[in-house]
Amino acid sequence: MASIQQIVKHQKKYFQSGATKDVSFRIEQLKKLKNVLKKHEHKIFDALKNDFQKPAFETYGTELGILYTEIDHIVKNLSSWANPERVSGSLINFPSANTIYHQPYGIALVIGAWNYPIQLTLNPVIGAMAAGNCVVAKPSELASHSSSIMADIINTAFDAEYLHIIEGAAETTQQLLKEPLDYIFFTGSTRVGKIIMQAAAEQLIPITLELGGKSPAIVDKTAKLETTAKRIAWGKFVNAGQTCVAPDYLYIHPSVQEELIDKLTNCIHEFYGDDPSESPDYPRIINDDHFNRLTSYLDNGTLASGGEYTLEDRYIAPTILTDIGWDDPVMQEEIFGPILPILTFNDIDTAIAQINAHPNPLALYLFSEDTSQQQRIISEISFGGGCINDTIAHLGNQNLPFGGVGNSGMGRYHGKASFELFSHQKSIMKKTTWFDIPLRYAPYKNNLKWLKKLIN
Ligand code: NAD
Repeated sequence: MASIQQIVKHQKKYFQSGATKDVSFRIEQLKKLKNVLKKHEHKIFDALKNDFQKPAFETYGTELGILYTEIDHIVKNLSSWANPERVSGSLINFPSANTIYHQPYGIALVIGAWNYPIQLTLNPVIGAMAAGNCVVAKPSELASHSSSIMADIINTAFDAEYLHIIEGAAETTQQLLKEPLDYIFFTGSTRVGKIIMQAAAEQLIPITLELGGKSPAIVDKTAKLETTAKRIAWGKFVNAGQTCVAPDYLYIHPSVQEELIDKLTNCIHEFYGDDPSESPDYPRIINDDHFNRLTSYLDNGTLASGGEYTLEDRYIAPTILTDIGWDDPVMQEEIFGPILPILTFNDIDTAIAQINAHPNPLALYLFSEDTSQQQRIISEISFGGGCINDTIAHLGNQNLPFGGVGNSGMGRYHGKASFELFSHQKSIMKKTTWFDIPLRYAPYKNNLKWLKKLIN
């Protein structure tokens, strides 16, 4: 097996050959990626089942389906996106032709997280390929079956000099970060994001950070509670709450609390039956560390629903906690599991001020029929993105760039945004030589007067 240094060296050489710059090559490779994923779908279903009992429906809907749609969308549009873009010139530089060329960086390193192990590794890979880069991807070691199946499928189908999966943990990533990379795309925690950014700074490698945070779901007095409960329960408990954009906590008007809890509890029963541990549709927690961290929150506030757990299979029931305050342990870090604390607010100004007093959420969800309230939340709180009257769904639309802000990350991807993210925008002004305005050259004499006439 080739070493990390050898792989990167071969990728550099391959990139310099210019092969990846050809748009039809990129389209062909993206189609090939879709084909190999399709061909090995059953193995991918098994891998995710083995990692944390993820049901095939969720694997298709939240991993493979998203990748297929992304590839189709890019394949359809890539030729037009990749075309050099003509922009207008300015009088001061008349006559000139001004063009933006979209050029690949070179070698992109993609570092994945474990919670949607296939999608979060391969979605950025698709963007990097679309832009014409060579790619090395390092999936998370915590979802070990998914990591190994990706390596197996992709390293068999693609030449290592173009696209390669390297398996390993933190040390492997550290080794990769010493290589002369041209772009780094990281998905994971804010803590590790800082380590990756420091390493990128050593070589001034451009970087995207897709991080986490506590994403609130706000429910006001005007919300339609039946649909609200269904959409919150779905967004919170899909993947057993191990979703970066899951509603981390509910922030609600006290007048809706009782009815909302009843409806949420009903939804949990409808989705997963009387005993969710028996449901084939309810995943498990990824490892013992996360399991122990999550169960330590169960004595916070008052248990309104759920609360059962078993260590042997790392099961934690969908759980709702009330009487929670901002200082409770469950409110100190991203929960990343099936525990939903509820906080209340009396007026929206306080709610906005409280959220703004905490690190920027990756996502925010507002359930409200009040359009002025909707506009206030959008304009007065800084967060990555989100939905009005739904959860999570925004990341499934390729036309909506996805990413965080501040503590929840930097840079955005999906669809055209991915192509742009992994492309350097090279701006070129082409001048004619048959004509030259002498204004800019010294001696300036009275030129300032003319310059002020042109620019004022
Ligand atoms: P993590 O930060 O622990 O690990 C992410 C990746 O970094 C893994 O591949 C891991 O091997 C590597 N890594 C870990 N420690 C490292 C170190 N010291 N040096 C170099 N590499 C290291 O994150 P995770 O537990 O896999 O994922 C959970 C976090 O990711 C949550 O905070 C979640 O919100 C966030 N997340 C964000 C998004 C998003 O799209 N913004 C998506 C999923 C998860």
